[in-house]
Parts: sequence; C-alpha cells; structure tokens
Amino acid sequence: MNTYDEYKQLVVQTAQELTHKGYLMATGGNLSVRVGGQNAFAVTPSNFDYLKMTPDDICVLDFDLQMLEGHMAPSVESAMHAAIYQVRPDVNAIVHTHQVYASALTLIKAPIPALFDEQARFLGRSVEIIPYAPSGTGMLKSTVAKHVKNHNNAFMMQNHGALVFGHDMQRAVYNVEILEKCALAYLLALCSERKVSKIPLVVREIAFSKLRKDQEKVKRNEVAKQGE
Ligand SMILES: [Zn+2]
Repeated sequence: MNTYDEYKQLVVQTAQELTHKGYLMATGGNLSVRVGGQNAFAVTPSNFDYLKMTPDDICVLDFDLQMLEGHMAPSVESAMHAAIYQVRPDVNAIVHTHQVYASALTLIKAPIPALFDEQARFLGRSVEIIPYAPSGTGMLKSTVAKHVKNHNNAFMMQNHGALVFGHDMQRAVYNVEILEKCALAYLLALCSERKVSKIPLVVREIAFSKLRKDQEKVKRNEVAKQGE
C-alpha cells in the first residue's frame, strides 16, 4: 500500500458517511486529515460529487500547498486547512460543512454558549461566529487561523457554514453531530423568546480543562512522530 492510501480512503469514507447523514450536500463543504508525522494533509477535491468520489480523487498537499499526490484540483479551502493544522497541532482532522441549523445561527450571528455538558467537553467553551470572508480567499484563511487559536473544536462561519475539528476523523464526525444538535436545540429555544439557561460556569470549565488535557496529549504525540 502507498503511504497516503489509508488517509485518502478515510477522507472518501467520511465524506460519504457525512453525505448519507445529511451534513454534506452535493459538492458543498470539504474535509481533510493530517498525514501523521509529515507537514501534509489529504483533502477532498474542489467541486466534486461526494457519492462519486474514490480515493484516487483525493489530493495530498504539503503545508505550502504543493501537490504531493493527486490529479484533481484540491478544495478551494485547502489554504485554510493548512493554516489550521499549523496553528493547532492537536487537530488531526477538519470538516467544513454547510449543515443547515449551524448555518442558520450564522445568519443571525448567534454564537452558541455552553448549553450542554458534552458540548463543553468536546466542542469547547462556546461555538463562536467567525466573521464573514468570501470562500477560498486569503482573507478567510487568516480570519479563521486567528479565531481557532482559542482551542475550541467547533466554529460557525458567518453566512457560510460550520468548521469542526477532531484529534481524529471519528471525533470530528461526532463533533459535527454534536454541533448540529446544539444548533437546533438553541434555535428552538431562541424561538420561544424565553431566557435560555446555560450549564454552570464551573461545569463548563471542568469539561473544557478535560478537552485541553486531551489536546496537549495529542500535540505531544504528533511532536514525537515528527521527530522520528
Ligand atoms: Zn463552504
């Protein structure tokens, strides 16, 4: 098996799983996985039907966006993915979707406060809104790179969609699902026009510190791999 085969396979499998579950639609969104021990990642191609995708269509790029393997044009958000892997050594998988409920919250610029224990444990202290920048631009890349330094694992991009991380692809998929559940519950609660209750601050902080501890462990492992 080729060095990158398992990564390419994982990207295709996950893209199709997320399409079947309704988080990815047609050709919208993109996802990638870090190639362990290398400054590289495998990413979905630009504007290509997820259900027709095969591992051969996946692009492997280094952090300078040089193509290491692949024959398709890589996702227009590849620069954003590369920037995230560089500022967040704890992140090994990135999923960007246009999932509906999280997207709806971006239209009213409503960040999600800590509403549920599992949200604080896996997504972070809150789900913030990253200000609008057009897709595929350097402006979007730098705005995103700045915001993701807060160690949270889920963000909402204004008038666009969701951006979710995981220490592995499975966790990133779970986090996409947690985000959509939180977004829907929050939207429904907002519609009631009654006060929305949050989890106690101390619980939020304990959950977030567990997430931070996990992130530090992943970061140490990746640094060790780079040194091999
Ligand atoms: Zn998008």
